[in-house]
Amino acid sequence: MADIEVPVFIVGGSLVGLSTALLLGYHGVPSLTVEYHRGTAIHPRAAQTSQRTMEILRQVGLEEIVRRKSEEQFVQDGGVLAVETLVGGPIAHYIADLNQGVRDVSPTVRVFLSQDALEPQLRKRAEELGAELRFATEMVSFEQDTHGVSAVIRERDSGKTQTVRAQYMVAADGAHSRVRERLGIRMLGHGTFAHCITIYFRAHLAPFIEGHKWAVVYALNRQLRGFFRFEKPFEKTFLAINTIGDPENPVTDVSTGLTEQRSLELVRAALGTDSIPIAIENVMRWEAAADTAEVFQNGRVFLAGDAVHVMPPNGGFGGNVGVQDAHNLAWKLAFVLKGFAGPELLSTYGPERRPAGAFTVEQAYSRYVLRTAPNMSRDGLQPVAPDLNIEMGYIYHSGAVIAEDAPEDPNDRRVHENPRESKACPGTRAPHVWLQRRGEQVSTLDLFGRNFSLLAGPEGNAWTEAARDRATPLGIELDVHRIGENGLTDPSGGFPAAYGITAAGAVLVRPDGFVAWRAKTGDGASPEQIGSALATVLCRAG
Ligand SMILES: Cc1cc2nc3c(=O)[nH]c(=O)nc-3n(C[C@H](O)[C@H](O)[C@H](O)COP(=O)(O)OP(=O)(O)OC[C@H]3O[C@@H](n4cnc5c(N)ncnc54)[C@H](O)[C@@H]3O)c2cc1C
Repeated sequence: MADIEVPVFIVGGSLVGLSTALLLGYHGVPSLTVEYHRGTAIHPRAAQTSQRTMEILRQVGLEEIVRRKSEEQFVQDGGVLAVETLVGGPIAHYIADLNQGVRDVSPTVRVFLSQDALEPQLRKRAEELGAELRFATEMVSFEQDTHGVSAVIRERDSGKTQTVRAQYMVAADGAHSRVRERLGIRMLGHGTFAHCITIYFRAHLAPFIEGHKWAVVYALNRQLRGFFRFEKPFEKTFLAINTIGDPENPVTDVSTGLTEQRSLELVRAALGTDSIPIAIENVMRWEAAADTAEVFQNGRVFLAGDAVHVMPPNGGFGGNVGVQDAHNLAWKLAFVLKGFAGPELLSTYGPERRPAGAFTVEQAYSRYVLRTAPNMSRDGLQPVAPDLNIEMGYIYHSGAVIAEDAPEDPNDRRVHENPRESKACPGTRAPHVWLQRRGEQVSTLDLFGRNFSLLAGPEGNAWTEAARDRATPLGIELDVHRIGENGLTDPSGGFPAAYGITAAGAVLVRPDGFVAWRAKTGDGASPEQIGSALATVLCRAG
């Protein structure tokens, strides 16, 4: 018998491992996470947090604290722009205001909050929800069989080892994932194209930044190409550098042989002045790469985050996609472990998340090439899609969705679209519509969470009655809402149109807020219809 038995064992307790532990806890599933480092992130790294990630954080009760921390840390709605040198001012604007033109699609907003500030919040909430997190602890080996995964973990300080037995393992062990390597899963894509650095430094930069809505500022000149990210009160910042020298023929290895003096010179070259005192605090080395794993699952082992998709930071997508992996996987693990779904539901994780991951990798790569690397070929470069499509317009095609008119050929399937156009089509994120309940504003998204939800139009009582009949025989709880019933009102009257249904239609939404099935009208409303849709998407048919 193993020293520790737990339903889910998570390797890696950074952004994605912590998110997985938190979301499993939210679904009532115990987990054990081991993290090599002694605590949560010490470097800022990810900061740009998409509306979709914020929606997930809202679901688990973290939106408010994250928004508050973000206000303390960053100028709100900061922009993304380029300068030759900071003192020289802007030469290009990529995003003028982080939330311009996107506030209508979500009950929440995009924020900047750095990883070292977000992770303690994820950790705290995960622990509140019962997750066990062990820091300074390493997973040293694992084996899987048809019933589960056995692993050996080691405490770094004492050297003490213990065995773990879990039904499933999630590898959130980062870009250099040893789990991925051990399983022989290949990364496919563009490979590594620069050995980059991030220089953390102190300097009094307020005179240049204050009064501007600048969050990410690319520095593009003949000495270096990279970006700054500015936190209030502009005394401490970082400069990430991708390449140095002639932009048409650059040196792509910035990290080898780097001295403190050279770091200082590079910071000065990006600032455009020697007159500001600078204190270098730290230099982190990382690789710019754009690759996606060929598969996201091997037996009872699931991989998430940078372990399965690595991308340059341009666009601020990497961490967000990882959180979405965790969100997709957590409810599926919970439903299978609780016996609500057939184990085949877990096989939909890769087919849903891999296309979303691969698309995001290409989009980050395109932004890297177009913004930072004039030397790199534009042949075959994926055209830049709107950030909003990447963040919340990804579309799932799998057995956990009952498609409407899907093309037979997988190559013809759309991977993304403008979320305003999705209209609750199965496989897309259920749209946000403001509703009212007992005088309070609630989003349709606030109706989703631990269970499947059936949302019916104001005349959709045939569906809501049929749904109430169906929940018990399947042994799962179904949250049933008819707009206009139980004090839930739709002041704008926009719900049916936003969900692509008539007033008598209904939509079945998964716990992750993605649409599983839709009935545009009230035709054929019956307990059997709903039971059959649920049984199909839960892989319980037959
Ligand atoms: C400069 C920079 C800026 C960025 N900006 C953004 C941004 O604005 N927005 C965004 O979304 N993303 C951004 N990213 C990307 C983001 O930081 C990553 O995508 C994110 O950290 C991935 O999280 P992860 O948990 O998958 O992997 P990691 O953060 O790499 O964590 C993996 C963890 O696993 C642990 N581990 C590995 N093996 C073991 C083992 N055997 N046992 C125990 N523990 C193990 C490691 O110690 C590590 O802590 C940025 C990255 C960089 C470098």
